[in-house]
Amino acid sequence: MRIFDPHIHMTSRTTDDYEAMHAAGVRAVVEPAFWLGQPRTSAASFCDYFDALLGWEPFRAAQYGIAHHCTIALNPKEANDPRCTPVLAELPRYLVKDRVVAVGEIGYDSMTPAEDTALAAQLQLAADHGLPALVHTPHRDKLAGLRRTLDVVRESALPTDRVLVDHLNETTIKEAKDSGAWLGFSVYPDTKMDEARMVALLREYGPEKVLVNSAADWGRSDPLKTRKVGDLMLEEGFGEDDVDRVLWRNPVAFYGLSGRLDLDVTATAPTHEGNSVLRGAPAAEPLPTGA
Ligand SMILES: [Zn+2]
Repeated sequence: MRIFDPHIHMTSRTTDDYEAMHAAGVRAVVEPAFWLGQPRTSAASFCDYFDALLGWEPFRAAQYGIAHHCTIALNPKEANDPRCTPVLAELPRYLVKDRVVAVGEIGYDSMTPAEDTALAAQLQLAADHGLPALVHTPHRDKLAGLRRTLDVVRESALPTDRVLVDHLNETTIKEAKDSGAWLGFSVYPDTKMDEARMVALLREYGPEKVLVNSAADWGRSDPLKTRKVGDLMLEEGFGEDDVDRVLWRNPVAFYGLSGRLDLDVTATAPTHEGNSVLRGAPAAEPLPTGA
């Protein structure tokens, strides 16, 4: 089973997770820029983070045979903090970089006027840069949040079929599907969506334009949830072609809209800017490589 996790925050995960993900079949990930739990206090803090998403993380992923891309944005939560909003002016220089495959994650957290402004501005940036957008939908008031999100998308210069609306569930899937957007589902250990509910939704609505992710981050989460969904799909009677479509071909098609997806994991140098996953210790044995 080949797996592309289209939404996972590897910055918050260990190198052991990369190893376990590769063993489970994960060969590609997209890491969206997001909130780190600790509030940032300046735009410079975002820039160091974006640089890590474009440097250290692809380096670390490649050690374990995983292709790493990212999405860049001011996240919805920090769009409310005036110390953070100046980062909007820094985004254009990141959005031209090779491994940036979308603007994201953007969207609503508390549905404030500041979030309106940041969402509209970043949808415009996506249109200007020929990139699709990864749009987070709020965890509270989900259906109202989805409707307002889709309204803003329709008013933007970005076509809805270049938008992935994420964190969907039973209450939001139908309207999201009817909009023509791509459909993202985050499968968590104890909130949002689980494997059984995911498979039931796939049975009811079909696999077209559906992407499943672990959204694993610093909270309670599991970077192998994608594999667990694939296994349950097979147990419940889906064919291998359906599993491959949901866990590989759909994310390839969506992020491929950027024209920048490069799924060949090239052998990288043993260090990135002088640092390695071994923290200076010599390699005892060769690290695993791709395929
Ligand atoms: Zn996320």
